[in-house]
Amino acid sequence: MTKKKEIVLKGIPAAPGITIGKVFLFGREQYAIPRRNIRDEQVQSEIKRFKDALIQTKGELIEIKKRISDEMSAEHGEIFSAHLLVIDDTMLIEEVISKLKKEKLSIEYIFQDVLKKYIRVFSEMDDEYLKERISDINDVGRRILRNLIGAKEDILSNLKDKVVVIAYDLSPSDTATMHKKNVTGFATDIGGRTSHTAIMAKSLEIPAVVGLEVVTKKVESGDAIIVDGTHGIVIINPVLKTLKKYETDRARFAAIEKHLLELRDLPCVTLDGRKITLAANIEVPEDVASVMAHGAEGIGLYRTEYIYMNRKDLPTEEEQFKAYSAVAKKMKPHDVVIRTLDLGGDKFLSQLEIPQQMNPFLGWRAIRFCLARPDIFKTQLRAILRASAYGKLKIMYPMISGLDELKQANAILTEVKKDLKKESIQFDEDIKVGAMIEVPSAALTSDILAREADFFSIGTNDLIQYSLAVDRVNEKIAYLYEPAHPAVLRLIKSIIENGHNAGRWVGMCGEMAGDIAMTIILLGLGLDEFSTSPITIAGIKRIIRSVTMAQAKLIAQEAVNLSTGKDVERFAIKKLKELVPELAIEVE
Ligand code: PEP
Ligand code: MG
Repeated sequence: MTKKKEIVLKGIPAAPGITIGKVFLFGREQYAIPRRNIRDEQVQSEIKRFKDALIQTKGELIEIKKRISDEMSAEHGEIFSAHLLVIDDTMLIEEVISKLKKEKLSIEYIFQDVLKKYIRVFSEMDDEYLKERISDINDVGRRILRNLIGAKEDILSNLKDKVVVIAYDLSPSDTATMHKKNVTGFATDIGGRTSHTAIMAKSLEIPAVVGLEVVTKKVESGDAIIVDGTHGIVIINPVLKTLKKYETDRARFAAIEKHLLELRDLPCVTLDGRKITLAANIEVPEDVASVMAHGAEGIGLYRTEYIYMNRKDLPTEEEQFKAYSAVAKKMKPHDVVIRTLDLGGDKFLSQLEIPQQMNPFLGWRAIRFCLARPDIFKTQLRAILRASAYGKLKIMYPMISGLDELKQANAILTEVKKDLKKESIQFDEDIKVGAMIEVPSAALTSDILAREADFFSIGTNDLIQYSLAVDRVNEKIAYLYEPAHPAVLRLIKSIIENGHNAGRWVGMCGEMAGDIAMTIILLGLGLDEFSTSPITIAGIKRIIRSVTMAQAKLIAQEAVNLSTGKDVERFAIKKLKELVPELAIEVE
């Protein structure tokens, strides 16, 4: 056998760390199903085979749903409720049976035919909800087919050995079924630094690289692979020398991580005593455990979209109240910033008929959607306010683009507060309300917005894409997505100055807050709070504890005078190397 060549691919770092393992190529496997005639007397036994496969599949789905709900969260488990709806679809079942009786072909063949037709018809529909159901139909259809032909299950939930998953993309249902104990890392063809797959990778705490474009074409299952999620590098069939280098790096990385975790209970202060708030971003209440384990002092961004996703109906006030109050209670006495619904962009929702838009990131999303649907917005605000009686909650609006929007949102909040008072329902009457600054117009008018907001949190994921005109999820132009771009630094500087001039604190909850190359600059620009995924918290704390404000200010001043993003990045890494050398290897 000829030795396979080492292939190095560069993608986008999605979650830090190094894993070395064997490839599991996760694809939509194609079953070759021959067209086979059956005799009249076989019709009943084929129907029975079909019904058995349905029962078996349903059993599998219920089991997975339960396991995912127990191990991850009820919200993750809900993904499989949509799958269970497909399996109970009587129209589909009846169509298969009547076609079988008419055409007298094997049940596998008929079923696959009907499945294809369903997918074609659904994909031609204008209805977003139905369109989104295609992947559910596909997933369930393949399970049924697999059970019909008795093929072995090779999905992510049932992996027996430790593997590195390689896929074109991973849907939320894929990532939800991945087990950390068997999936040691993953890499995908598509996706950007702040796409949902990348954010999920961080919350799973396994190394991941996205946006590799061709990785699925270069590997075969069983190949040896290295995924360096810190630097966004994937190496297929590494030679001995490469393997040795990465084994050393992996051990060094693990030692740094261990050392960093020892900082967990130490305060986040600079060498000259300035206290910085180090908070975490969460998606579901279950994430709080990891927030605590990494020593965050609060939640700077609770993305509430997930409670609305993967379901047919809207979450009730009670359901939301339960989730928000659970987080408030667990995090007490720390702050929890709850961001109101931010749908649209790359976070879709089936039941809310958001029409297809030419430019979804510039379209009907976030606060724009909420102001147009006060019924949905008020329900959420009521739930947050009620939960505010149980801890220290703050409210934050996403995608504010100007003062009018902020005023309108606050006016609705005032109405909701009045209603609660009338009903004698308790809430924190002094709840603080902030704006995310993630649109250039908001950044440029942050002095004006400060009149109506108690605090700001800079959403760099969107701020960068809007100010540099670079789609945050498009891997083709990922090289232009530069957090260190002078335009971005200037905007951040002015937001912080405007906030401080009005006596407001200014935080950051975009992924840039977790980018250790940028920490000293952000600190020097005066950022009061960093909110990031739990796994990056210790590194940020280590840096903040290693510098004085005077040093950081000088570095920031020099950085904002540089001409390009590359210059800023090089300069930032050089300074990090000088001041915190043991962390610099993570960004070199
Ligand atoms: C951001 O835009 O920086 C942000 C934190 O919000 P999201 O990633 O949810 O858009
Ligand atoms: Mg955003």
